[in-house]
Amino acid sequence: MSNTEATQEHSPEQTLRQGKPLVVAVDGPSGSGKSSVSKAVAKRLGLAFLDTGAMYRSVAWHCLNGRINLENAAAVEAAARTITMEQTMSPDVELFRVNGINVTDAIREPKISAAVSAVATNLGARAELVRRQRALIAEHHRRIVVEGRDITTVVAPDAEARLILTASEEARLRRRGLQLGGTQSAEQLVEQVLARDAKDSTVVDFHRAADGVYTVDSSDLDFEQTVDAVIAVVRQAVNAGPAA
Ligand code: C5P
Repeated sequence: MSNTEATQEHSPEQTLRQGKPLVVAVDGPSGSGKSSVSKAVAKRLGLAFLDTGAMYRSVAWHCLNGRINLENAAAVEAAARTITMEQTMSPDVELFRVNGINVTDAIREPKISAAVSAVATNLGARAELVRRQRALIAEHHRRIVVEGRDITTVVAPDAEARLILTASEEARLRRRGLQLGGTQSAEQLVEQVLARDAKDSTVVDFHRAADGVYTVDSSDLDFEQTVDAVIAVVRQAVNAGPAA
């Protein structure tokens, strides 16, 4: 060991396959904490971060903003193909633009959550977004945490680590309620969390882990414990290597 190596202090996270491809694919239902946990994992591992839900939300925002009928499948697919979508892909800065317009806050509004399943269930739009997501993973040299609903199965089934982050219905409703600052009624929360998941489940299965996919249940874990549990799973998956 050289002097430099001996004196350099690396946390176990920093040494996890430094420089080598490390795609961490995270799927799960609404309110499971996917987004904030995935961001924290990306920070700790020094990886880029891709929020794929924001891409579906961006298409929904563009359609609502441009009065494109969300029931018109061909028009929604055309929107997914033609709009420019930018996101920082850094776990430290959240910024999304659609055709140059900053939509960072607008895409989180309840009216977008209510409309987004029309984009998610549009197979043409899905194919286009999956294509864009794969290109972004390659652009980031496969050093990235990607979160969504179909990442472990469709977008990156070849990821070095794949997991489903889940939590009980009660925990998910409570978390989403807190996230929205207590502004939503119990019925509105059920609509935004459980009803949206039910609609989304008609095209993607993000409740059950596919073969080789780990599960982390965060119902009884706090935020830091969940991040630690995910990093432990990443390490386990990387040590196990690719499935035969
Ligand atoms: O994760 P988030 O709640 O922001 O996702 C918004 C919506 O985008 C989901 O309800 C789902 O309809 C859709 N989505 C998807 N596939 C993904 C990511 C999100 O269908 N990979």
